[in-house]
Amino acid sequence: MLFDTHCHLYDAAYDADRPAVLERACAAGIGRMLCPATDRQSSEACVELARHYDGIYAAVGIHPQEAGRVQPGDIEAIRRMAEQEPAVVAIGEVGLDYHYDTPARDTQKEIFIEMIGLARDLDLPIDIHDREAHGDTMEILRRYGKGLRGVFHCYSGSLEMTTELIRMGFYFGFTGTVVFPNSKRAKQVASRIPMERLLIETDSPYLTPPPYRGRRNEPAYVRYVAEEIARLRGLDVEYVTSQTTANGLQVFGIAEDV
Ligand SMILES: [Zn+2]
Repeated sequence: MLFDTHCHLYDAAYDADRPAVLERACAAGIGRMLCPATDRQSSEACVELARHYDGIYAAVGIHPQEAGRVQPGDIEAIRRMAEQEPAVVAIGEVGLDYHYDTPARDTQKEIFIEMIGLARDLDLPIDIHDREAHGDTMEILRRYGKGLRGVFHCYSGSLEMTTELIRMGFYFGFTGTVVFPNSKRAKQVASRIPMERLLIETDSPYLTPPPYRGRRNEPAYVRYVAEEIARLRGLDVEYVTSQTTANGLQVFGIAEDV
């Protein structure tokens, strides 16, 4: 069984054929999917999907790109969902994204720190988005993240950063970008991280791996990530599959048979 630990199943890209996408995922052996939110509305949508489909779980939270659009009551609503909905297994995706100039870095940091507080209060793992913001992400985790556990999704850090994060208790998600022929650093890091901290994900509908690059991504394609990691590490794909699934169940506290 495969576990796609990061797929935006509520995205409008699936509005026309969501049941078919989920059926293909099932047929491809994807037994678990974690659907991460980016704001209050998508948090509600993730919870809704997780309520209706076996094997789908939700993360609720505010993505750094949405940090400037938070309305009064949004954070309280997210807290309530995380407290009351059994399908919510993490706070995410939250973090910092310095690829674009907006929203202001201070706004992003403020919301990130607030989301870390929520994860700690509720004793939930955190699903971190860190794009071109390694320095500040680490500084905030060192300062506010004591006792926190979780995942760096679409991990792009160095081996040095990895060592510190392993000590802090984090796991590392790899997407279809690791399959791209020119992703040298991601391939290097994915081949060196301890197997028991490795996760696979699609970040659907984005980051589609070859051979479907350029088209819409979907959870069924997470097997291309598993195959590439197996190739990089000289392992059987069955072993990569079962180990990454076990890791995902472990970090998100999901029972094996549901
Ligand atoms: Zn995402």
